[in-house]
Amino acid sequence: MKILIVEDEPKTGDYLRKGLLEAGFVVDLARDGLDGLHLALTGDYDLIVLDVMLPSLDGWGVLKTVRRSGHEMPVLFLTARDGVEDRVRGLELGADDYLVKPFAFSELLARVRTLLKRGRSQEADTLRAADLELDLLRRRVSRAGTRIDLTAKEFALLELLLRRQGQVLPRSLIASQVWDMNFDSDTNVIDVAVRRLRAKVDEPFELKLIHTVRGMGYVLEIPEGP
Ligand code: CA
Repeated sequence: MKILIVEDEPKTGDYLRKGLLEAGFVVDLARDGLDGLHLALTGDYDLIVLDVMLPSLDGWGVLKTVRRSGHEMPVLFLTARDGVEDRVRGLELGADDYLVKPFAFSELLARVRTLLKRGRSQEADTLRAADLELDLLRRRVSRAGTRIDLTAKEFALLELLLRRQGQVLPRSLIASQVWDMNFDSDTNVIDVAVRRLRAKVDEPFELKLIHTVRGMGYVLEIPEGP
């Protein structure tokens, strides 16, 4: 597994490179945005760890160009402050996860491993959460073995939530991915669709999987503990 780190702070960059090398990854380190972009487009990486504040081209610029060029590798971005706007912007531009500095290396390593695993499982034919299954080939959804009929939009919405399991998805992101609408569109459409989806997927069952995160959006996750 080959990882690219784009980080201009020498200490952080060296520390991340050393840690990931010791964890058994092949690692390249770029110290500014343009070098990082060049490597990202040519280096065939399995994952990118991308700092946001970078000289010559910031992390947003790198991420945007990487996604526009059709590269689908997971991107974990590093942000200096715990700002909602930063997180939303990163996820909208196609990042897969983020970490707020300062973070423990063990935390970064756990995220990296999860993203690499998720990257592979996306090629599977079935997406799962608890007893919920979405069969991409047959376009069928079931829970605890019981078939659930969904409209095409509901199916697309559930697919997105399952692929991004555990991540809070802003309405604007859902709008752009499922409805092809832009940021300013009427997001009430999304709330209505989520409500309908929940009525089919969650209401008849004890374990609720789709959750509202106030002021942020929606997340599909298996609730912790009893
Ligand atoms: Ca920086």
